[in-house]
Amino acid sequence: MKRVLITGAAGFLGSHLCDRFIAEGMHVIGMDNLITGDIRNIEHLFPLERFEFHHHDVSKFVHVAGELDYILHFASPASPIDYLKIPIQTLKVGSLGTHNLLGLARAKNARILVASTSEVYGDPLVHPQTEDYWGNVNPIGPRGVYDEAKRFQEAITMAYHTYHQLETRIVRIFNTYGPRMRVDDGRALPAFFSQAMLDQEITVFGKGQQTRSFCYVDDLVEGIFRLLMSNYAMPVNIGNPDEISILDFAKEVVQMVGKGSIGYRPLPKDDPQQRQPNISLAKEILDWEPKVSRAEGMAKTYEYFKKVLL
Ligand code: NAD
Ligand code: UDP
Repeated sequence: MKRVLITGAAGFLGSHLCDRFIAEGMHVIGMDNLITGDIRNIEHLFPLERFEFHHHDVSKFVHVAGELDYILHFASPASPIDYLKIPIQTLKVGSLGTHNLLGLARAKNARILVASTSEVYGDPLVHPQTEDYWGNVNPIGPRGVYDEAKRFQEAITMAYHTYHQLETRIVRIFNTYGPRMRVDDGRALPAFFSQAMLDQEITVFGKGQQTRSFCYVDDLVEGIFRLLMSNYAMPVNIGNPDEISILDFAKEVVQMVGKGSIGYRPLPKDDPQQRQPNISLAKEILDWEPKVSRAEGMAKTYEYFKKVLL
């Protein structure tokens, strides 16, 4: 039986990955220090013999007994609100944490996939973003703690690939949403839904003209699984190219919830103005493209928020 270590297992994406690898018949070791995650996201897996949970900070030395075939490194705060609150931990988990996991992969002769991000492109000057674009990042701005940690993560992962012939995969994830997002993590989608549902003003930053392209979690997980199983070691964008302005997105939430009024707040520093993945590479090498429309994905996510909030 294949054995996989998933870091950030109690988080939004990590918990869905645990479900997927369990469904694939593998033995899953979930690791998390619960700094932004929630144990309830994986509680349903605890009765399974093929699942184990390790409460551990991966920025410290990581030990796992027995063999490992795959490592997926997803531990890291991901919401701007989170990583602004815990900037040093964010830098450490992207750098020291990644180093520890690369070392573990080497020791176990395991293939490792690291979760990178569209934030490596910063506030992009190329649109849509292709993998060969080097990005436009302010290293000392508020978002630098996340963006530079992820850029370092990519650099050290490529170095292990080149100098140690380690089998590595790098996924550049664009804004992803779905059930198990924390309602108060500050990201636009949970913020807008919870505000509309609880009769609070919907907080659109700036004029809401900045764009994002939202990918439903099931599509992302499928893309990640295919990338892990592929033999492609260079970074690959996984996201949904369906781009929308934040204001129009807030209006879609109002329409779905059936109520909500929009208010405006200052635009945070260095907030990227445009973001849309070019997914030609994923289409070509993974035969992957997203299948879930925003209307369908938002409806599923709304059902989840109803259970959590009402
Ligand atoms: P999340 O906050 O829900 O999950 C992250 C998990 O990592 C949490 O459970 C947290 O407790 C854990 N964690 C953080 N630091 C840790 C440490 N030092 N040791 C052990 N566990 C630690 O966020 P998410 O949205 O699920 O994001 C998961 C990964 O995907 C992150 O690496 C993030 O950078 C990346 N990513 C996510 C998105 C997205 O849209 N969700 C986009 C780009 C990249
Ligand atoms: N945003 C907003 N109101 C909020 C939270 C976010 O207008 O309450 C905006 C934010 O400024 C950004 C976009 O929505 O332009 C997406 O923000 P999110 O935090 O979800 O993701 P990221 O900026 O990391 O893409």
